[in-house]
Order: sequence, then structure tokens, then C-alpha cells
Amino acid sequence: MQYFKHTTINIYNNNTIKNIIINSLDEQSQVSSRYPVQISNYYAGLIKKQDDAIWKQCMPDPQELEDFDQFPDPLNEASLSPVPGLIHRYPDRVVLLVSNRCPVYCRFCMRKRLVGSGYAAMDEAEFREALIYIAANPSIRDVILSGGDPLMLSDEALQRVLSGLRAISHISIIRIGSRVPVTLPERITPELCNMLKQFHPLYINTHFNHPAEITDDSGKACAMLADAGIQLGNQTVLLKGVNDDVEVMRKLMTGLLGIRVKPYYLHQMDLVRGTAHFRTSVNSGLEIIRALRGHISGLAVPHFVIDLPGGKGKVAILPDVMERNGDMLLLRTYTGEQVAYRDLTTVRE
Ligand SMILES: *Cc1c(COP(=O)(O)O)cnc(C)c1O
Ligand code: SF4
Repeated sequence: MQYFKHTTINIYNNNTIKNIIINSLDEQSQVSSRYPVQISNYYAGLIKKQDDAIWKQCMPDPQELEDFDQFPDPLNEASLSPVPGLIHRYPDRVVLLVSNRCPVYCRFCMRKRLVGSGYAAMDEAEFREALIYIAANPSIRDVILSGGDPLMLSDEALQRVLSGLRAISHISIIRIGSRVPVTLPERITPELCNMLKQFHPLYINTHFNHPAEITDDSGKACAMLADAGIQLGNQTVLLKGVNDDVEVMRKLMTGLLGIRVKPYYLHQMDLVRGTAHFRTSVNSGLEIIRALRGHISGLAVPHFVIDLPGGKGKVAILPDVMERNGDMLLLRTYTGEQVAYRDLTTVRE
């Protein structure tokens, strides 16, 4: 597949922080030889100081090499892959790994084993094989393009992928998972939007993790996609030291609605090797959901999910709000008050 060409990394106009970034990249060459490092100019420009929320997401950290307990592929994606680059876990939908590149290699990436690596992205022959598999399985109605970042493909390559999928009559919706609006907003061009809107119903799930990522540029990229009629959702990963904080999450989720993006999932970190230093307890996610629900627009509250190891799928969890006593439910309101609610009487034999 052909990729979109863009300028990468570490030249950027604030000299003080630029030198700190470059020195740190030199010091961390052991990490970058194990896990690729790439930072778009634009994203590097969002770093305000060392160790801030943007820095932590993109700058290599020696702790990546100290994680021996977690596995490269805890979700068993490789074994759920009937043909190369296609993951078929749920009956009606598949994930297609059409790209292995991203403008920024996030240090917490769940596909750390693949992105930016020598592993070749799906080639044309593999893509044809994937199309044949999908065409032969009429239960598949939803195809999710992922990677890496599908929007790193050239417009022409992406158009070939989308046309190939649209030629299969049982495919109802196509989704694209992309962090490009966040990390390389200039990639969202009028030409790209005009091409994408030929393939409706098309959904894009983007990936904002911190309110500092909501800028004029990323907001404009989202507006262009939304104006092309594309429904925008967001998947956030809960990251220690980056966004495991109620105020940060409130600002992020309401800020997303302001740029026409609907928060979809808040992900508990997967147990991926090289990312353990980002993990939080499940409780901190539950506390965040408790602090959002009822306090801000329901539209701004994502589902908190754990993607279970072994490819068992995503499970949504809620703060513990319910007790049952016969037909009476004891529910907790957003202010913490406990209120009884009578269910239908269940008939027992
Ligand atoms: C997350 C995921 C999906 C999509 O799940 P939704 O809940 O429909 O968004 C599909 N396949 C795989 C393998 C996934 O990990
Ligand atoms: S953009 Fe997505 S796929 Fe790419 S490195 Fe970041 S988390 Fe991984």
C-alpha cells in the first residue's frame, strides 16, 4: 500500500523545548531501537514542558524496557486472524489492519508489537485475500479499518480499500479508527473529505486522550470530517499520569462534544508489554465515570471498557450503583443519594 507523505519529527520553532526533546531522544536510543519513535512536527509543538501529558504520550521512556510481565499480544489477535491483517472476533464485524504507520508512535499503543516495525503492512495481495474472506462471510456487516493508522495511506490507496469493501453488498457500515485528527490534523484535506464522503455510512473513531490535544487545528480537522457527514466518535485510553484525573476527563469529554466528537469508549489499559507504567487500577476508571455521569451531559460520558485478555472481548463496567432486595432495587443517584425503585414483580414457580 502507498502512504501519505508528510514531514516528521522534531524540528519545531520553540528552541528551548526543542533542545530538551532532541537531547532526551538521544538519551533514549536504547528504547527507540526496541520500539520505534516518531513524533509529527505538529504534535511535538503541543509539548509545553518536559513530562507534561503530551510528552508522556510520545517520548520514549526507559520504563518501556523494564516491563517483562505483560505480553506482546494479550488480546490474542494473531490467533483470531483467519487471513493476514484481518481480526475476526465478533460474529458481525471484523478489524482490518490496513496500515502499520502512524504520525506519532504512542508509547502506550496496544499494537506496540506491530506499529512502525519491519512487519510489512497489508499488501495488495493480502488485501484481496481479506476481501475474499469478507465476501464469503455474509454475517459480517461492519468493517473497522485500523492499524497503525488507516489515514496514513495515500488518498488513492484508501479509496481502493473503501471501494473494495463497498463492492460487497452485505457490508453495511465502515468504520475508520484514526488518531490523525489529533496528531497530524493537516492530513485532513478537502480532497480526503470529498473522497471519504462517497462511502457512507462511514464512521470515524478518533483518539483524543487529553484536553491539550483539543486545539484550533484538531478542531478544524474534526469540523471538516463532520461537514462531510461523517459521524465522529472518540476512544480514550486511561493513562496514569496523563488523564487519570476527574477534572482532566471532564474537560476532555465536554471539550470533545464542543468539536462535534461523541465520546464512545474509555479503555482500561491492555496488558501489552512495554506499557505497564501507564496502567491504572480499574477503580480509578470507575471513579472517573462516577464523577462524569449526571454531572455533565450524558452525551459526554463514554462507556468504560476492559478488553479482556485472550480475545474474550470488551466488557463495559459501571460504578457499583445497584443492590437488589426482591423486587426492590436500591439505586444511587449522581449526588450519592440512595433511592428505592420497584421493579416488576417476578413470578416464581
Ligand atoms: C473493539 C473491537 C471491535 C469493535 O467493537 P465495538 O464494541 O463494536 O466497537 C471489533 N473487533 C475487535 C477485534 C475489537 O477489538
Ligand atoms: S496512533 Fe493508535 S495505532 Fe498508532 S501508535 Fe498511537 S495508539 Fe498505536
